[in-house]
Amino acid sequence: MNHGTDSRPNKTAALISPDVALSKATAMVAAVDETEWLPTDDAIGRIVAANVVSFLPLPPFDNSAMDGYAVRSAACQGQPAFRFPLAGRIAAGDPGTTPAFADGRDVAIRILTGAAVPQGFDAVIMQEHCELDGEAVLLWRRPVPGDHIRRAGEDVPRGRAIVTAGTLIDPRHVAILAAAGFATVKVRRAIRVAVFSTGTQLRQPGELLPCGQIYDSNRMMLRALLKYPSSRLKSLGAVPDDPQRLDATLRRAAAEADIILSSGGVSVGDEDHMHRLVVQAGGTLEVMKVAIKPGKPMTIGRLGKALYLGLPGNPVSAFVTFSLFGRAVIGKRAGSTIRPPAMQPAICEDERTRSPGRQEYLPVRVVGATGDGLPTLSVITPAGSAMLSSLVAADGFIVIPAQQDRIRSGERVAFIRIAEML
Ligand code: AMP
Ligand code: MG
Repeated sequence: MNHGTDSRPNKTAALISPDVALSKATAMVAAVDETEWLPTDDAIGRIVAANVVSFLPLPPFDNSAMDGYAVRSAACQGQPAFRFPLAGRIAAGDPGTTPAFADGRDVAIRILTGAAVPQGFDAVIMQEHCELDGEAVLLWRRPVPGDHIRRAGEDVPRGRAIVTAGTLIDPRHVAILAAAGFATVKVRRAIRVAVFSTGTQLRQPGELLPCGQIYDSNRMMLRALLKYPSSRLKSLGAVPDDPQRLDATLRRAAAEADIILSSGGVSVGDEDHMHRLVVQAGGTLEVMKVAIKPGKPMTIGRLGKALYLGLPGNPVSAFVTFSLFGRAVIGKRAGSTIRPPAMQPAICEDERTRSPGRQEYLPVRVVGATGDGLPTLSVITPAGSAMLSSLVAADGFIVIPAQQDRIRSGERVAFIRIAEML
């Protein structure tokens, strides 16, 4: 589709280090500031807009951590067993008032886990250390004040922020919000992400596959990766390598979305049109080549108000670049704090030589552990940017610095677990 003059901006684009590319990309986005209230159990994957302060102490009242007997520890004089008349029973859900018949007498009260500890009682003896004796109970242990009692507010004091602004709500946050009685939570609005694949060769799963065609795996993979933070996804399908159709798709995405996320068409082939089209549509490109393997053609730019993320077409490249750049940018736009995938030390058992120049992400399996607990890794073969099986088999990636030309067997390496990238 290039007629004579070569106007592809990426021909001369600088190769940018991944760190610089990431800081350029995150500098280009600001958090959305519109907010909304959502039912707590619909807020999973969303970003909390303001600190949520608990009105209640948690637990709300002193309660028993065990099934047993509540006593006054001061009443246990001398040596066990201690014998007290049994003066009632309190189960979880019963009000925690002192039974009237216990006033002024030393008694024990049957108490069950989660039940309010009656006033004046300061210890619970677990039932395994007690014995019923007619109307009385024998306690075979000396209680210490506070034994088996969960104090009001020991988990969360009243007035404490239980979830802070910027938190990405996961199932744990849903639980603590519910425990503190919040039926709704204020979150930032979901960001709108327009996703499309580029490539005349792409068919959707379920369609027939003529010779020369492949199924579009990137769009579904990206959709799955976009679960956290959750976004309002606009799927624009797979668009053939036809500049007119790609242009129309880009403009539509820019009008409708906060983030335009495409795969393919950002390299230097004749049918890689995306760079030129973004610029022609009035956009700018900040990053066109990143010194990373796989994923060199990773592209970051702006079109209208939208941020443009052009991922490479090869599926493993798309996965790695989304995990490193896409997630950070989308997270920041959504209003969360960005945490790059955590690396940990590990030992690579295999030998590798390579040509230096780009930071490399090599899929590996965990095969064991060293005496001092470092994971030992084996490099997956065959592997390559087009091989999804190597991605599926991976327990993670090792990250080889750009200038390094080999890994020796037994060498200490930086390892990213796959869960950090999902
Ligand atoms: P491109 O970056 O467009 O040159 O694509 C690079 C390679 O990735 C080609 O072999 C494409 O067929 C493949 N590819 C591109 N897009 C997809 C996709 N959505 N799903 C699976 N493979 C793709
Ligand atoms: Mg293509």
